[in-house]
Order: sequence, then structure tokens, then C-alpha cells
Amino acid sequence: MKVELHLHTKRYSLCAIHTPREMMRRLIKRGYDAVFVTDHDAVWSDWDLADQREQFPQIRIFPGLEKTLGRHHLLILGTNDPEYLRMERAPDVLAKARAEGCLTVLAHPFRWEGGAELLEQAPLPDALEYRTFNQDGEAAEMAMDAAKRLGLPTVNAGDAHSVDMIGRFWIETERPLSEATDIRPIVLEGAYASHARR
Ligand SMILES: [Zn+2]
Ligand SMILES: [Zn+2]
Repeated sequence: MKVELHLHTKRYSLCAIHTPREMMRRLIKRGYDAVFVTDHDAVWSDWDLADQREQFPQIRIFPGLEKTLGRHHLLILGTNDPEYLRMERAPDVLAKARAEGCLTVLAHPFRWEGGAELLEQAPLPDALEYRTFNQDGEAAEMAMDAAKRLGLPTVNAGDAHSVDMIGRFWIETERPLSEATDIRPIVLEGAYASHARR
């Protein structure tokens, strides 16, 4: 399964260019089997999810969010619980996500100063982003070094804000992704590979 772990749509992310429909169409065209929608500090409603799933049965559409915590951006994959929007402390968010079987991924930790401070003390996120549209080259290698030091997995993700950003960085897994929370064991057990298109 070709999976996008980090995707924005203009429905909820002010910085995104394209609508959910436009993004889904492009993901399908690029051969994706599953996507986690991760708008900035917003969760899709059950209605939004059901509506997109009905329109696009060719792809599994799972909920998530990209939560801002100070200078950190944390992906919480496998939930659309609005309670996450009200939480302010990283340890609380990480503990809730873990208890609910969601996967937490520190997004682009070396994109800007301070984006990796969360890694200095426990509890740690489950994984780090490696290569994305917003973290490549030297910053991506810094993320890889930090992940190795901490023993955390890394994932490639699109961080796509427009259709042309889709299909550059992704992960693939041979395991089925039936439920949104299936992503956590897949990543923690290393049952996937990160890919990038040249
Ligand atoms: Zn971000
Ligand atoms: Zn993002």
C-alpha cells in the first residue's frame, strides 16, 4: 500500500491551495492506496470523512491532524477527536495519543530553530519525519541522525499543500491498513519503507 501520512487541504488549512476533492483525485492518480488528512490545528468532522469516502472509494481516507505545540508541529494520526485542539501541553497530547493507539510523528523537526526541542526529554513522539516537501537535504539528514540517536523510526511524507506536491515522498507497507490506528504498529514495528521520487 502506498500511503500519504501528511496532507493539507484548503478546507481547513489556510496555507493550502487545493480542495479535498482536488487532493484526493491527484492522490488516486499517483497510485496512493491510503491517506491521512492532517490539516493544521483542525480535525475533519465525521461528516467530512464520510462524504470524501463516498466520493472516493478508490482510496482509504483516514483522520489526523497537525497540531502546533509552541515551535513544534506534531502529526497525530488516526483520530479526529476535537479534544486534541484544546490541549496545550506536549506530554498530555503524546500520552492521550498513545493511550488511543494513534501514531505521533514530529513533523519537520529541523525545518526551523526549536522544532526539535521536544526530543530533549520524555515522553518522545513515536517517529520523526525524514524527507518531506518541507524538510529535505541537510535538515532531513539531521532528522535521521536524531532518530538514530533516540532509536525512533523515520517516515517520508508529502506535507503536500497543493496537488503538485503529491507523489514525491511517501511510505509503502505490505500490511493491510483497515483501521486508522493500524498505522501505529506498522511504523513501530518497521513494517514499511520510505520512498522518494527522483
Ligand atoms: Zn508543519
Ligand atoms: Zn504540514
